[in-house]
Amino acid sequence: AKLLPPDITKPCCVRVNTMKLDVDSALYELGKQFKVQKDDMIRDLLVLPPHTDLHNHPLVLNGSVFVQHVKFGFYRILLNKYEIGKVQGFNLTKKVCSAKGKASSMVAAALDPKPGWKWALVLDACSAPGNKTVHLAALMRGKGKIIACELNKDRAKRLEDTIRLSGAANIEVLHGDFLNIDPKGSPFSKVSAILLDPSCSGSGTAAQRLDHLLPSHATDVVDTQRLNKLAAFQKKALAHALSFPAVERIVYSTCSISQIENEDVVSSVLPLATSNGFQLATPFPQWQRRGLPVFEGSQHLLRTDPVEDREGFFIALFVKKSSVKNSEE
Ligand code: SAM
Repeated sequence: AKLLPPDITKPCCVRVNTMKLDVDSALYELGKQFKVQKDDMIRDLLVLPPHTDLHNHPLVLNGSVFVQHVKFGFYRILLNKYEIGKVQGFNLTKKVCSAKGKASSMVAAALDPKPGWKWALVLDACSAPGNKTVHLAALMRGKGKIIACELNKDRAKRLEDTIRLSGAANIEVLHGDFLNIDPKGSPFSKVSAILLDPSCSGSGTAAQRLDHLLPSHATDVVDTQRLNKLAAFQKKALAHALSFPAVERIVYSTCSISQIENEDVVSSVLPLATSNGFQLATPFPQWQRRGLPVFEGSQHLLRTDPVEDREGFFIALFVKKSSVKNSEE
């Protein structure tokens, strides 16, 4: 099914890197040029008018504000391949404010690491380019430690660039395969929270949603075979995350809208999650869009809509039963 292109008439969001600048100062600085306000749900998020172009703004260049760019890279390759060139209405080379500012910022916030958290060690399992890693670092106010694992060498370099730009000093990059980490080995036996944002089809992103502009034979990238292959990895990775002995919170997220990569992945690991003492918790209970009603408990899951929210994201939060009471305090 073809989806609508991104609704670029909707406001966009940027995240203030609170390791470098506080939210009120960013609001003041950006307010000199733009109509800007705080997001009503995510503390470090600012909402700007549609089309705001911040990519050359000094606050972005110095890492005080993070713009999570529209994923046009992959799409541009396809466009070149089919020589379509510039698609009417979308300047694909220009990074506008952000099509996924809010949805992607909800992921680290759902893990909800707090400064002075008793959990000092957080693992970002699939971390490049590192937007969520540095968001975690900001939420932890530089306390504790984050291990950022990334399989791909080039992407690990991008991760290091992001970390450098953010100014975070508590992130260690681990270039390797998350699936090869021994959960019982040192220091992983002490990991208390995991953010798992694995490779996915990206079907909730603006770039993928432009696929209706491509010749039909180019769109087989979203076929079921590919989704099943991705889901097989996602299930393995989530089951692996559930096996870390000290972990109390796990966020599983994708920027896909496919049930195969989302609800189906979560439901497939539920028996293991339950036997390891986890239950699904409800990230952002005030958020209306929840999981597809395909299994009991899917109301805990969070979805964002590719058009209404400018990007389709999926978030599941697993919490160790023994820690539920503490985290609610
Ligand atoms: N969380 C990142 C962010 O917000 O910037 C985006 C992560 S991206 C969706 C998934 C990443 O996982 C890719 O960079 C990919 O190379 C990496 N990856 C895939 N398989 C992996 C594995 N087995 N172990 C570690 N990283 C892996």
